[in-house]
Amino acid sequence: MLERFTEKARRVIFFGRYEASQYGSPCIESFHLLLGLAREDKSVFLKLGPNIEGLRESYESRYPAHPRISTSVEVPLSMESKRILGRAAEEADKLQSKHIGTEHILLAMFAESEEIRTELEKLGLTRERAEREIVSKTTDAAQNFSADMLESSPGSAASGMPPRFHVCAGIGYDLHRLEAGRKLMIGGIEVPFDKGPVGHSDGDVLVHAICDALLGAAGMGDIGTHFPDTDPKWKGANSILFLEHIRKLLAGRQTFITHIDAVVILERPKLGPHFPAMQKAIAIALSIESNRINLKAKTNEGVDAIGRGEAIAAHVVATISQE
Ligand code: MG
Repeated sequence: MLERFTEKARRVIFFGRYEASQYGSPCIESFHLLLGLAREDKSVFLKLGPNIEGLRESYESRYPAHPRISTSVEVPLSMESKRILGRAAEEADKLQSKHIGTEHILLAMFAESEEIRTELEKLGLTRERAEREIVSKTTDAAQNFSADMLESSPGSAASGMPPRFHVCAGIGYDLHRLEAGRKLMIGGIEVPFDKGPVGHSDGDVLVHAICDALLGAAGMGDIGTHFPDTDPKWKGANSILFLEHIRKLLAGRQTFITHIDAVVILERPKLGPHFPAMQKAIAIALSIESNRINLKAKTNEGVDAIGRGEAIAAHVVATISQE
């Protein structure tokens, strides 16, 4: 569902969840999303009038405070919040934007939540005005990810602000021997060739190296710990399953995958033509945009086992962000 959401838009949900837990709410109500939006995209609100303190005061005057819930507890979206996120896609389509950004979530809030519409209007922001501003500044929420990320939450848990995000990188490496008559699986797809990797699973070096890089970035060990090759469950397994499993592990820890950069080393065949299909398979498994995955191919110049066509290897660096 979140494939089209920009990183900023995804962080609105992240901050919405944070707000819900701070107020002890059992689900992420639309107003928590609004507070999340105000945190994440201050520019929209500063320019248009309402500020987060005004919104917060209004919220607190109307809803009783409950004890905080730990941020490690998974708090679900309310029905209205789900409708807002669904509607944001329609707002993006209307404005002919491929991506769903914070501005589309704002417009969706006007459409789906009576409460938010009333609140924002009280604070001087009407849908018409918001729409005018958004259309005139069609610069899109072009993701200046790292700078935004590091500056967006300067507070600390003590001040009631969400903790600072950390950007972490992990490295992954894998090598498999190649043998005649086996399927050549790379990046979740089969590349037509007369040899393929020997391995307990399907021997997909690229996916294995991505797994290790992601687990490394998250400080969660390596692929062998999570998918031991002594376990018959993984015999001949499609390695894409490993990625899907890791996506769930990361999501449970409020972690976002920022970027994956990979190099596959193989003498033959040429991999470039297959990259788009690989990117797509990996992106779907990880629920991220394909453009967050950069693939490169090298030969080994005829040197060593890889150069003689006896092996395939991959190196990967993955970057994630987490609380
Ligand atoms: Mg391997």
